[in-house]
Amino acid sequence: RIEIRHVAKHFDAFHALDNVSLTVEPGEVVAIIGPSGAGKSTLLRTINHLERADQGYVAIDEELIGYERRGNLLYELKDRAIRKRRAGVGMVFQNFNLFPHLTVVENIIEAPIAVQGVPRLEAVAQALELLARVGLSDKAEAYPRHLSGGQQQRVAIARALALKPKVLLFDEPTSALDPELVGEVLDVIKELATSGTTLVIVTHEIGFAREVADKVVFMEDGRILEVGGPARLFSDASHARTREFLAKVL
Ligand code: ATP
Ligand code: MG
Repeated sequence: RIEIRHVAKHFDAFHALDNVSLTVEPGEVVAIIGPSGAGKSTLLRTINHLERADQGYVAIDEELIGYERRGNLLYELKDRAIRKRRAGVGMVFQNFNLFPHLTVVENIIEAPIAVQGVPRLEAVAQALELLARVGLSDKAEAYPRHLSGGQQQRVAIARALALKPKVLLFDEPTSALDPELVGEVLDVIKELATSGTTLVIVTHEIGFAREVADKVVFMEDGRILEVGGPARLFSDASHARTREFLAKVL
């Protein structure tokens, strides 16, 4: 389970996150929605320690992300140790972020080999299984530039899964895609959701959130204003700001 506790993050005087707390249970699918600038990406990046929280902490299965506890004090981990611990948190970005000079299969095996010391042959076998799972068995030797956006994003998902993360974070995984490619990526995410993967997804796809999320989080101005099941939150939000936002996007 992910525990986000009283996390604050400022950029100079600007509060990007203000006392954010949230728990994600194993197997849960959490959708984060909210207007531009609400702090959604910053929150995901904090879960992954790509951003360091100024206050509060994030723990995954009781392990602090980015820090270790010695007595009552927290010490920031060294880069290598952070990378290892971060392997428990897979991240998929809006713009895929594949390594352009590596083939699809090389993209997927890089981190398991470098971070987890998985033997190359084993990493390749696992990569091919993951490619089958995302429907791209025939693209193992292709370079990212020869793939469509939807295919690249599915490779990015396979790459994130290769580290066997405890949770997968998605930051607007379909918003850089042409409309006709959105469905194939959402289908892969839906398959993960129904097979018990713990997922946190920032998305503007309200229909998708309604269908797959166990819990929807509405953020604004660096705060979580409201959390609820999709059926309730989308039809009967308790907060006026949530209702205003939904009226614009639904
Ligand atoms: P969007 O829907 O547009 O992606 P968001 O909810 O993901 O928005 P964030 O990217 O988390 O919003 O940004 C929250 C606020 O923090 C924004 O006002 C942004 O300008 C600010 N911010 C984010 N990163 C930085 C940074 N590195 N330096 C300064 N300000 C930042
Ligand atoms: Mg964002």
